[in-house]
Amino acid sequence: MISIAIDGPSGSGKSTVSKIIANELGFMCVDTGALYRAVAYFVRESGIDPENEQAVIECLKKIDLKVKNNFSKQKIILKGKLLGKELRTPDVTKISPIIAKYEYVRKFLLGFQRELAKTNNTVLNGRDIGTVVIPNADVKIFLTASPEIRAKRRLKQMRANGIDVDYDNILKSIIRRDHEDKTREISPLKKADDAVLVDSSNYALDQTINKILDIIKEKIGGFYG
Ligand code: C5P
Repeated sequence: MISIAIDGPSGSGKSTVSKIIANELGFMCVDTGALYRAVAYFVRESGIDPENEQAVIECLKKIDLKVKNNFSKQKIILKGKLLGKELRTPDVTKISPIIAKYEYVRKFLLGFQRELAKTNNTVLNGRDIGTVVIPNADVKIFLTASPEIRAKRRLKQMRANGIDVDYDNILKSIIRRDHEDKTREISPLKKADDAVLVDSSNYALDQTINKILDIIKEKIGGFYG
């Protein structure tokens, strides 16, 4: 199976870029951030304090989470319910990096991610795909952009989803999440030594896509193109 890892900080465009690339290649798209968000949503719905690690662990033992592939699109199903916009609320966004620090949570989701990559050709996006989840991925990209550009893009995306927020709050949230993701002990956000850095600050979406497709062609040209 072929695995393409696209890592990077919050709001770097990984999810959008991964969906388009997975669709182009006919691969499954695995947005691993959505898995952390599903756990955060479950913790919130269960009325658990996310800072209470032991309570989160106990809560997670009861989770009924499934991930399905539907024509390159990932479907996240919690207790039989398909999750969508619920995963993108400011509350869930805030809780996600807190529960993502816990070893139990990371190990639980690691199994999920590896199983998907073992049984499908995948484009996986996250923070630790190239470093921890699939260290032997066929292609590794580290996609980033300045915090200000990422905040502007996230604002547009959230407003399009009907969520009303302001720029300053988003920028603060991005800076806080960067810090939490980079400084956590287990699987911090960092570029794998063999990942190709793509800074999309000055690129339009189609330029970013073309750049990444060129890198993929160069690495696994025999398969693609
Ligand atoms: O990418 P997204 O913003 O949806 O991710 C939500 C949260 O999940 C991030 O803030 C990060 O803390 C966590 N995450 C992670 N490792 C991943 C993907 C996401 O820790 N591979």
